[in-house]
Amino acid sequence: MSDCIFCKIANGEIPSNFVYEDENVAAFRDVNPQAPVHVLVIPKKHIASSAEVQDSSVWSTLMNAAVKIARDMGLDKDGYRMVINTGEQGGQSVPHLHLHLLAGRNLGWPPG
Ligand code: AMP
Repeated sequence: MSDCIFCKIANGEIPSNFVYEDENVAAFRDVNPQAPVHVLVIPKKHIASSAEVQDSSVWSTLMNAAVKIARDMGLDKDGYRMVINTGEQGGQSVPHLHLHLLAGRNLGWPPG
C-alpha cells in the first residue's frame, strides 16, 4: 500500500534499523522501544491486521521468523514475549500486521 509506513520500511523507502529480512518478512527495531529489546516483525505483503489474514501460511512465516530472530539474538535463554495488537481496543496504531518481540526485562502481566 503506497501510504503505509511499514510497507515503506519494508521496501526501503523509509530507512529503519533492520535486524532480519527474507523474501516474505522484515524485522526492525521499534522507534519507541518498550523494553531493552523491541523488534517489530512484519509480512512484506500489506495485511491490515491479524483479523484480515486470509492465507494461514502468513502465521507460520511470521512466527517462524520471530522465533528465529529471538534465537539468533540469544533471547531464548531468559525469555521473551510476542504480542500482536489488533484493532482499536487491541491497541493497534499502525494498520499493517506486525508482531512485537519484546525482551530484556521482566515483563508484567496482565498487560495494560
Ligand atoms: P501497535 O501500536 O501495536 O500498532 O504498534 C506500532 C508500533 O510501531 C509502535 O510500537 C511504534 O512505536 C512503532 N513504530 C511506528 N512508526 C515506526 C517507525 N517508523 N519505525 C519503527 N517503529 C515504528
